[in-house]
This record gives sequence, C-alpha cells and structure tokens, in this order.
Amino acid sequence: MRDPFGREDEWYRTCSECGKDCAPEPLGTGVGMRIAFRCPVHGVHTIVDPFNDLND
Ligand SMILES: [Zn+2]
Repeated sequence: MRDPFGREDEWYRTCSECGKDCAPEPLGTGVGMRIAFRCPVHGVHTIVDPFNDLND
C-alpha cells in the first residue's frame, strides 16, 4: 500500500501562501475520512483523501 504521507507527496503539506510545512490532521466527513493540512496563519489549504487510490 502506498504511504499517503510519503516523500513524493509532500507538496500538499506546504501552504501555497507562506510555504510553511503543515501537519496533517484527521477530518471526519459524512462520506469518510479525509486529511486536512492547516496552516496556522492561513487555515486549511489542502484536503486529501488518503483512501482515494483504493477506490479504483
Ligand atoms: Zn500559510
């Protein structure tokens, strides 16, 4: 299984506004689990579906 936090995907950790490396935090939704990356200055900038690859 692919590691969703693997090095090749670290772009989505980075805030496009300030370039900070943001920690992932779990985000519960009505349809499943997502991972949100929240910049302390700019708020959530990226939401990823860690299980997206498994649905194909
Ligand atoms: Zn930022």
